[in-house]
Amino acid sequence: MLIGLAYAMEGEIDSLIGSCGASKLEDRAGMQVYQIRPGILAYAGGIGKVNAAMSAQYFIDRYRPDWIVNAGVAGSFLDLPIGTVVAVESFVQHDVDTSPMGDPVGFVSTVNQIRFETSDFDRLQNILRELNVPFLPGTVATGDCFMTPGTRAEWVKSTFQPTLCEMEGGAIAQVCLRSGVKFAALKSVSDRLTSGKNSEEYFNFASAMERLNRVVLPVAQALLGAGGEPKAPAMTIKSFQVDHTTLLPGLYLSRRDGDVSTYDLRFKRPNTGDLLTNSELHSVEHLLAAILRNGPARDGIVYFGPMGCQTGFYLLTDSGVLTDADVVELVKSACREALDYDGPMPGKSARECGNYANLSLSAAKNVISGYLSVISGWDESRLDY
Ligand SMILES: [Zn+2]
Repeated sequence: MLIGLAYAMEGEIDSLIGSCGASKLEDRAGMQVYQIRPGILAYAGGIGKVNAAMSAQYFIDRYRPDWIVNAGVAGSFLDLPIGTVVAVESFVQHDVDTSPMGDPVGFVSTVNQIRFETSDFDRLQNILRELNVPFLPGTVATGDCFMTPGTRAEWVKSTFQPTLCEMEGGAIAQVCLRSGVKFAALKSVSDRLTSGKNSEEYFNFASAMERLNRVVLPVAQALLGAGGEPKAPAMTIKSFQVDHTTLLPGLYLSRRDGDVSTYDLRFKRPNTGDLLTNSELHSVEHLLAAILRNGPARDGIVYFGPMGCQTGFYLLTDSGVLTDADVVELVKSACREALDYDGPMPGKSARECGNYANLSLSAAKNVISGYLSVISGWDESRLDY
């Protein structure tokens, strides 16, 4: 079970990161992804519908979350106090208009609907009540403009009767609908479209976010359920205590046996059905084993081979020759060398291999390329499972 907390700006996540020692997982295409705690990630996807949509789809493809929970500040069409928490029942997109084609205003073609309901809304409300969080159920109008009091705001209000407006939630709702991922949203009122001081109010959003984040994390934890409770710290053999339900792709130290260190190259998130095919496993095995065993670090290589669960590879090294930091750099450089390699697949013959017909250099390069992007910012401080 994995939950992704979707924010627009890094500044909105700050209070969440500060309160629980989160670690940054990646910085990609202008979005930042953090692990907040086991089973709960947060990302800053950018402002506006396009940024919100591309980051949500990327996050879904990469991390395969069960839920995306959008949290953020919003302007209010009602005279609500700043910081009021609104649990969102549905979104509309006020800037979608194909009415010349005969559609109603706000009708989103392709998915053919105006309102995007959030998932399990009764459950979200029950969780908030159990947490004693005062909230208001409401609807949100999303669009690519910063709403200020005026004729546009009046038109949106009279056309859609929303509680709030912002610039991302409706886009994320649409992405989640198309990808079959559950979606919830919690908003905090940062400014009022009924107030003459609207723009001044908005720039106090930090306090509105801090207050909202104190609610978002317990809600995410409740959605995770008992299975999402963090495990006790590792005491003996690390690999026995690794929670494979929350494990993310990466490079990890699994165990040490004397001078032999075992590293797990996790290419895929376990138990999601997204596995390396046998051909990919086999092809990466041939290519990386050949590079590692012929490279400058060959004296430190004990073994390289695939995991039976089809999610990655084991690399066993001699810790008297290679430090943890050496191994992290070695894995990166071996991946880069594999991507540059243009020769014949090593060991691709009936004499050298037990199933040489299913070897493919392009299949190996394809999955190595994805893995390299995961570990490109990795260092030895992130080797712990
Ligand atoms: Zn083989």
